[in-house]
Amino acid sequence: MSVIDAEGSTVGTGYYNSYSQIALRLFVFEEAVIDEAFFVGKFQEKLAFRKRFLDLSTTDAFRLVFSESDGLPGLIVDVYGDFLVVQIHTLGMDRLRETVVKALVKVLKPKGIYERSDLEVRKKDGLKTMPKGVLYGEEPPSPYEIRESGLKYLVDIQGGQKTGFFLDQRDNRFALRKYAQGKTVLNLFSYSGGFSISALAGGAKQVTSVDISSAALDLAKKNFTLNGFDPEDHIFAVKDVFDFLDEAQAKGMRYDVVVVDPPAFVKNQDSLNHGTNAYIKLNQKALQLLNDDGILVSSSCSSHVTSELFRTVLFKSALQAKRELVILEQKNQPPDHPLNVNFPEGEYLKFFVCAAKKV
Ligand code: SAH
Repeated sequence: MSVIDAEGSTVGTGYYNSYSQIALRLFVFEEAVIDEAFFVGKFQEKLAFRKRFLDLSTTDAFRLVFSESDGLPGLIVDVYGDFLVVQIHTLGMDRLRETVVKALVKVLKPKGIYERSDLEVRKKDGLKTMPKGVLYGEEPPSPYEIRESGLKYLVDIQGGQKTGFFLDQRDNRFALRKYAQGKTVLNLFSYSGGFSISALAGGAKQVTSVDISSAALDLAKKNFTLNGFDPEDHIFAVKDVFDFLDEAQAKGMRYDVVVVDPPAFVKNQDSLNHGTNAYIKLNQKALQLLNDDGILVSSSCSSHVTSELFRTVLFKSALQAKRELVILEQKNQPPDHPLNVNFPEGEYLKFFVCAAKKV
């Protein structure tokens, strides 16, 4: 529908849902017809943008569409090799499913398109269903092998977390490599071993991967083998990270590099204080397991936690752990999860590499 202001001038084109807290979502700041041709044009533009910034000779998995940040509110499309995974968050986009699928087939010619709209957030838009399954073509193999920065990963598209892989940490996983040579690395919240394998590719001596999900760690072990690293040489702990940290501290364990990549602790404004305190506690405990001159690699994917607040988190963690922290690298989300100035709320991923010193 067209959106006009009080004077009758066009504001843009979008969709309206009186049930939703966000009643109006805009596609474009102009008059437009939202049909198959519109989506074809958008997907071509999105693909061209990704190709400018991704090396598709070493990486074949990326986010093609990131909802509002790409001007397509309520829609996420991830490319995994020959397959696409679609997530639909809103009623407005749910009604456009068939058009979206036709346009995706035209632009990307995938072997198959799989839907992973098994999302609670759909209820906020008044949707009662959480559809999952093949939308077009073949069902993806389970698990399905992708490539990222020259490494191989098995992705559980049908049953994994989100759409199967945390594509947003690609550049950050790569950044870890240069700190890993000859080091012992503790990867907390490891999921399917993304940071662990990056550390090994960077020459890490031994990697410990911790996750509460045994399915995630089973996949991590397969990913080790797939890249030529023997899982037997490394440690996998199916455990709550907080319990692991306390036990490791009690045993006097120490590591050269600790990676901290938890799920979002702050999901809404009401949990900001509670979640921030959890980040402080987590990073403090992680810092205490570092050898002197160790490296803390710490991330937060809560959009409510700004970069500035996260630096304060690190400052307080360091104070409590009696460490001095110097930021070596500070990064955000990669260009396939665009940080669009017209949608500042889309800024969510923070990633810091810090040198830690005992004081
Ligand atoms: N670093 C990963 C992504 C991490 S996603 C990558 O690069 O792919 C967050 C992970 O934390 C999930 O795998 C989830 O199973 C795990 N998790 C959530 N809460 C946890 C807890 N309390 N203890 C251990 N793992 C937890």
